[in-house]
Amino acid sequence: MQANILFPINTEGFTYLVPEKLEIKVKIGSRVLAPFKRGKKVGIVVGINENTDMLVGAGLAPARIDTNKRATVKVAPTKNGKEITLKSIESVLDEEPLIPDNLLKLIQWVGQYYMSTSGLALKNAVPSGIFEDKKSGRGRITYDDAIKPVNIFKLTYEQEKALSEINKAQSGAFLLHGVTGSGKTEIYIRAIEALGGREAIVLVPEIALTTQIVDRFRSRFQEKVAFFHSGLSPGERISQWRKIRNSEVKVAIGVRSAVFAPFKNPGLIIIDEEHETSYKQFEGLKYSARDVALARAKIEGIKIILGSATPSVESFYHAKKGKLTYLELTQRIEQKPMPRVEIIDMTREDKESFSYSKKLLNVLKENLSEGHQSLIMLNRRGYSPFLMCMDCGYTYKCPACSITLTYHKDTKTLNCHYCNSFLKPQDDCPQCKGIKIKYIGLGTQRVEEDLNALIPELSLKRMDRDTTRKKLSHYRIVKDMEEKKIDVLLGTQMIAKGHDFPDVTVAAVVFADVALNLPDFRSSERTFQLFTQLAGRAGRGDVSGAVYIQTYEPEYYVFDYVRNQDYTGFYQKEIELRKELSYPPFSKLIRVVLSFRNKEDGVKIMKSVSARIKKITWHQNSKLKTQNSKFDFEILGPSPASIEKIRNYWRWHLILKGKNSKSLRQKAAEIIETLKDIKDIKIDVDVDPINLL
Ligand SMILES: [Zn+2]
Ligand SMILES: [Zn+2]
Repeated sequence: MQANILFPINTEGFTYLVPEKLEIKVKIGSRVLAPFKRGKKVGIVVGINENTDMLVGAGLAPARIDTNKRATVKVAPTKNGKEITLKSIESVLDEEPLIPDNLLKLIQWVGQYYMSTSGLALKNAVPSGIFEDKKSGRGRITYDDAIKPVNIFKLTYEQEKALSEINKAQSGAFLLHGVTGSGKTEIYIRAIEALGGREAIVLVPEIALTTQIVDRFRSRFQEKVAFFHSGLSPGERISQWRKIRNSEVKVAIGVRSAVFAPFKNPGLIIIDEEHETSYKQFEGLKYSARDVALARAKIEGIKIILGSATPSVESFYHAKKGKLTYLELTQRIEQKPMPRVEIIDMTREDKESFSYSKKLLNVLKENLSEGHQSLIMLNRRGYSPFLMCMDCGYTYKCPACSITLTYHKDTKTLNCHYCNSFLKPQDDCPQCKGIKIKYIGLGTQRVEEDLNALIPELSLKRMDRDTTRKKLSHYRIVKDMEEKKIDVLLGTQMIAKGHDFPDVTVAAVVFADVALNLPDFRSSERTFQLFTQLAGRAGRGDVSGAVYIQTYEPEYYVFDYVRNQDYTGFYQKEIELRKELSYPPFSKLIRVVLSFRNKEDGVKIMKSVSARIKKITWHQNSKLKTQNSKFDFEILGPSPASIEKIRNYWRWHLILKGKNSKSLRQKAAEIIETLKDIKDIKIDVDVDPINLL
């Protein structure tokens, strides 16, 4: 007997012999210990072969035979008849299969779809502790154990209608488009309650959000809720994972990787705030948890709900085309009014400081005197985005990236937000030795300092990546906010997402212009979503809310739609632009980033890249013409990426555009194959990129 074993490393599986005494124990989905290179490794059985040449398992395609010379483990006889010696599995670690069949299928799908490997997908899907050859320790979660009393709401007519559509269905995908405060979470909870014995996976975009959602779910499902996110220790992660695997819980809540929750029999997947970019992983395996969830729902044959107040342009388009069932909530619960949105023109307004207009400051003071809370957003952390010498104009750049360094006042360092390196600024200018150094621009630390000086009696907390690094720190901030120990919560986009603080009546954007004019086709969509989401945090309780957006570009068209909370209007405008430029949803994109060490090599390398691409596209073009089929494929570039250098690598990119995802991926694979032997370049593929910077 032979078995195909997948390891959590960036390759496909390897074939091993199964010793006779282990034959009965080896099952698809079980962990085994096997010799690997000079040591041993724990892997998962993904295919079993009794006596034929084909390895078949879990409905998987025959395992790919890896003839890569670097692989030190010998592989099965190949089709051309070469005999190779196989190594043997050493032991089987599980009595029963550990990884459910459908999850294995999903892992393989992810590896293929994202033009990566099943091994890397496995690494992302299963906590690393599972692959350690030892008993896992018990992890304890230190969250507050008090479960809040059950709060049963009466559903609105719209909620009832949406819920009954969902409950009627056995499978299928729904887009739940509900304005902020319309009670989407209550629908999620009831849809899960209606599942009977089956389980549910709930994805949220941000670790900071799990706190409130977990509380809400625990008040209804008590101990039957597991959650995981990047803040868990390895032990906690394994213990949560095992609870899910053993069906000890009914609901698994988490960020991105929760899409791989190892339920054997899930009945429903929920993606809250489906439009959020944080569902996309930017490093390593570049998957979108939303799209993987849609694939999983198909593989499992179950239902999936995409929820949002500001659906992604793609999802709304698919709903219009009938690919998603459209469910709408147009009213806030208890007929609470939508917040009023005001755009503050900073070119005209009286300013109290560089960051605050008199108007906004007065609003904040008044809100404080009335005992309500406020949210203030600036989507840029640090103190100031750059230091500049007033004599010669010198600014500090990251030595490794083409990015100006952000000054952080708490650490007195200049930080690179791309590669995380930092340096200490000198007292004088490194270029001209001048001493007139100025802080240019705003970051969250600076607007915090400003506000502390302007309204000293205010209890102010900052929430951004710098203040939430420590475990559970986000949780404490949210709790303090709920208990009204904080008057104003100030932070990056983290504060705009999904929180439900009933006493927040004012939400403000200090400097909206940070979000505008990024050279990317999704930037206006992001802006609209971010500001509408922030607006949605205001006035969720008994007092109605107001939103203030300070900007130096008040004419920017997106503000009109934000002011009127006009999603449909925004969508109409955006979808026409996308159509004109044939961007998604009218096409599929694959981005290939080519990076190299020496700037001087760039021109030579790109010449060779262009020549090779021309060769195969010309070839395909002529082939297509003879087949008389429609040409639906386009390559843009190679051209320099907007961010020219990251971590000492110079970056160029190719954008591949096509109508059909599968054939686009095939073509991308061909192109990558022809580029593979070019010296000194790194090739990085991003299927369905969400930005092209
Ligand atoms: Zn200078
Ligand atoms: Zn850097």
